[in-house]
Amino acid sequence: MLLKKKILDAALIYLSKNSIGTSILKSKKITENTSILDDKKIDIISNTDFSIDNYFTSVDILKRNDSDSWDLFSIKLSNKCKIKYIIDLSFSKMVLSKLKINITKIYIIRLSSDYRFRKNIVEFIEQYDYTKEINITTEKLSNDIMQIEKTVEASNAPKLKLNKNCKNCIAIERCIKKEKRKYTIFSIPNISTSNIEKLTELGITNIDKIPKDFKLSLYQKKIIECVLNNKIHYISENLKSELCNIKTPFYYLDFESITTTIPLYHNCTPHTRIITQFSIDKTDEKWKLLAHYEYIANHKINCSKKLVKKLINCLSNNQGSIITYSNFEFNSIIKFIEIFPNLRKELEKIISRIINLELIIKKNYYNINFLGKLSIKSILPIITNSDNNNDYKNCEINNGLEAAAAFSIIANNLCKIKEINKIKQQLLKYCAQDTIAMIKIHKFLTKIAS
Ligand code: SF4
Repeated sequence: MLLKKKILDAALIYLSKNSIGTSILKSKKITENTSILDDKKIDIISNTDFSIDNYFTSVDILKRNDSDSWDLFSIKLSNKCKIKYIIDLSFSKMVLSKLKINITKIYIIRLSSDYRFRKNIVEFIEQYDYTKEINITTEKLSNDIMQIEKTVEASNAPKLKLNKNCKNCIAIERCIKKEKRKYTIFSIPNISTSNIEKLTELGITNIDKIPKDFKLSLYQKKIIECVLNNKIHYISENLKSELCNIKTPFYYLDFESITTTIPLYHNCTPHTRIITQFSIDKTDEKWKLLAHYEYIANHKINCSKKLVKKLINCLSNNQGSIITYSNFEFNSIIKFIEIFPNLRKELEKIISRIINLELIIKKNYYNINFLGKLSIKSILPIITNSDNNNDYKNCEINNGLEAAAAFSIIANNLCKIKEINKIKQQLLKYCAQDTIAMIKIHKFLTKIAS
């Protein structure tokens, strides 16, 4: 019973720290010397890395058995048991075996979605035995690893074979130089994995080899045409008229949010997304800043209602378009209507004014240097002609994930009280940067369309 409690305690610490969506709070030891395992007084080891030769694995929890073997526990935040978990755990088992750590059983632990704020968490932790599946995969994996070892040790690099995984591969810069990447299928915006799969199976990785009758969207076809004709931009004839639908004054709106495994507030389930802050910039038709509004929630309580009321207040004059750079703000306001039906009228008015600038780009504009990426941070340095992401360079928080992690740190009391204000200021600065970026993108599109 004591042991079960220790496992659950270890799982709980892991879930709290990792629910912030980042590894910045992890404090791990790399265990090359496994003598720590010889200490019979230690029956639980958690959040530790093991390595041997060129192999490295990260282990959530190991529990000692009477026979001096160990059970391996992996804690997953997602509700589904994905095949990649099985492969990851098979690899861990293989590395631990190389270190002569005998693993008997392998479990995946996860928090039930029925869990509610401050309920007894022990009752909601689910444990699944995957020993059989993992043992089968470990055997297959060992053969693959032997092949990989041979390839790595060979004196000549293998012939490069681009495949469906290249699009999101962090090593793509090494395999395909930037100047060549624009000519590959991986730079076609929004190309589906199945289309990449179909093309690579046909041995096609360059856009000039794509068959004429291959099914792609009109936007994708226009971009291919542009690349093949060595034109920097694609500008649709509809761009101007779409931009004309944006009414002044312009309101640029950006939300930040967090999703935690352990609910932070009442009425929240695991993985509930909570909007924590917004930034609004109001400009005239010449992009002269008329007003800046911002809000950040009190991290101790669920401030959704307060946030919505402040939002309505800032946008209440019912004039001008509200410009966002994704569907996220639109969808979040739809959810707010479900939660606060008495505010439906005001929120519906806001929704009717929203224009998604990203969607306008997705249909009407492309620069071949976007290399298939249309996010705000990817396109801003290209359209403003700066090599690095200057506008975000002075922000301590650089992306949505870091913003969520920062808010989670303060909401989970994981920082000193005097740091709270500093973090909140950094969050406000980051969110405001996104609305400034939207102004620049809108201005650029208007210029290029005329
Ligand atoms: S880009 Fe990545 S996935 Fe593609 S071949 Fe290179 S290393 Fe492999």
